[in-house]
Amino acid sequence: MQAWVIGNWKQNPATSHDVNVLLDDLLTAINAEEQADTEHPNSRCQLMVAPSYIHLAAVSTRLKNSSVLCAAQDISSHSASTGAYTGDCSAQQVADAGATWTIVGHSERRQYHKESHDSLVQKLSHALAQNLGVVLCIGETQTQYDDQQTLEVIDAQLAVIKDLLIQQPELISSLSERFIIAYEPVWAIGTGKVPTVAEVSKTHQHIKQKVAGLADTAEAITVLYGGSVNADNAESFAADAMIDGALVGGASLKAESFLAIANAF
Ligand code: PGA
Repeated sequence: MQAWVIGNWKQNPATSHDVNVLLDDLLTAINAEEQADTEHPNSRCQLMVAPSYIHLAAVSTRLKNSSVLCAAQDISSHSASTGAYTGDCSAQQVADAGATWTIVGHSERRQYHKESHDSLVQKLSHALAQNLGVVLCIGETQTQYDDQQTLEVIDAQLAVIKDLLIQQPELISSLSERFIIAYEPVWAIGTGKVPTVAEVSKTHQHIKQKVAGLADTAEAITVLYGGSVNADNAESFAADAMIDGALVGGASLKAESFLAIANAF
C-alpha cells in the first residue's frame, strides 16, 4: 500500500514570506534527494501539505510541477459551492485554489468549532461532490483513553462514513481511493506524548476492519497515525504494517524534519 506523509500546517507559518521559505527548503531538499537517487524516482511515499486558506492558492501554484500534493485543512459544511456563509470556504473554492484533498474533522476543529456528526457528514459529501479526497481525522481524548474507550469512540466517529454511504451508496466502490483515515489521539497532538506502536497498530487494524465492513469490501483503507510524530519516532511507526503513514503537525514546519519523517515510510 502506498504510504502517505501529510503536513498539517495549521495556523502557520505567520507570513507569506515564511511560507515561501518553507516551500523553498522543501522543494530544494526533494530535488536534491531525487537527483541523488535517479534509480528509484518513484520510491518516495506520497507527500502532501495542508496550508491555511489564505496561503492555499500560492502554495498549490508553487507545488504544481512537484510531486507534493496540496490539501485544505477544512471546508464549509453549509454548501459545496457558494452562499451567504460569512467566514466559510467551500469545497469548490478550495478545489479552484488548487487543493485536491481536504482534511475533515481534525480534533482542533471538533473542539474549537464544535463540529457535529451531521456537519461532518455534510463536509464529506461536499468534498466528494467537488472531487476532493478526504483525510478524515478521528481519535480519543485523554479521559477516553484512560477509560479504555478508544475503539468505541472511533466507531462512533466512523459512523459519518456509514451515514454518507446511506445517502450516497454509489461511493462504496471508490471509498478507499477517496478517503484516508488519520488516527490522532487528541492527547498525543502537540504534546510529545505518543501511544505505543502496538496500541496504534491494534487501533489501525480495527479501523481498517470497521471501514471495510461499512463499505462491504475486502479492500483496506489507508490509515495514518498522527500526534507528536517526529524525525526520531517515525521509523518505529513506519515499521508496523498497519501504519500507512503519518499526519504531521509541528514537525512539518521544518523541511528537514518533515522529509526525515517521509523517508522513514
Ligand atoms: P502534531 O500535530 O504533529 O504537532 O502533534 C498533529 C496534528 O494535529 O495533525
